[in-house]
Amino acid sequence: MSESSPLTGLLAGKKGLIVGVANQNSIAWGCAESLHAAGMELAFTYQGETMRDRVTRTVATLGGDVPLFDLDVRSDEQISSVFAALQERWGTLDFVLHSVAFAPKPAMSNPFIETQREDFLTAHDISAYSLVALSRAAAPLMPNGGSIVAMTYYGSQKAVPGYNVMGVAKASLEASVRYLAVDLGPRAIRVNAISAGAINTLAARGVAHFRDLMKVTAERSPLKRTVETEEVGRATLFLASDLSSGITGETMYVDAGFNITAG
Ligand code: NAD
Repeated sequence: MSESSPLTGLLAGKKGLIVGVANQNSIAWGCAESLHAAGMELAFTYQGETMRDRVTRTVATLGGDVPLFDLDVRSDEQISSVFAALQERWGTLDFVLHSVAFAPKPAMSNPFIETQREDFLTAHDISAYSLVALSRAAAPLMPNGGSIVAMTYYGSQKAVPGYNVMGVAKASLEASVRYLAVDLGPRAIRVNAISAGAINTLAARGVAHFRDLMKVTAERSPLKRTVETEEVGRATLFLASDLSSGITGETMYVDAGFNITAG
């Protein structure tokens, strides 16, 4: 976004937590860049010590003193301490991005029917329940309302080859968005999902035949291409801002129109 963009300053004075940056290719990073360019002050989390350096280097490009917290979303203690630290530092919060998903390798490479209980539970814990836990921890910091956005994928709606248990977890995530929207609506906190088209990221490489999926997306989508993280970022900016004040509980597709076509 250029300095003269009409969106510059749209989010000035607002504060947001970004969960899910692994590197510069992450969808969460595309979102962070858009939100930052529109004036939002950002804090980030990284998943454990092995991710710390890379995330630190990535967020350093924003300049300034960017709060950074260790967070494995499976840990209730870590979730509590991240929001306690944010409360101490900022007092209030306007926005949370949930851009996190994981399923153990066997569940992503074997036929879906072979999914083991433990792997099913892990995929749902990290990819869906974590939104509930993060929303519950964030809400008290949003006394004047706020916006929560989660990243999902079309494999929640249709059986996409190779997406397996992640598709089932995304269906749970999208339903969680609707129930959270109902619970948090009276507090003026909106909860929405963005269903992004296939993008080549670290997490995407865990999906079998991902390159084929990118190819099919580009061939079949009305726009005849895949989408960029920046495009997901601008849609996130919309959902984070008052421009979308009447929208909650929705799943908004940013997929070059892929989902409207017949396979
Ligand atoms: P990515 O690998 O860049 O990001 C995934 C993030 O999840 C990483 O930062 C990783 O550290 C984090 N994560 C995984 N397990 C975690 C845990 N236990 N605790 C904390 N963080 C954890 O990949 P991405 O494609 O940017 O994925 C971001 C989101 O977008 C995911 O929800 C993914 O399902 C969704 N999505 C991706 C695509 C795609 O094609 N890449 C399409 C639609 C939706």
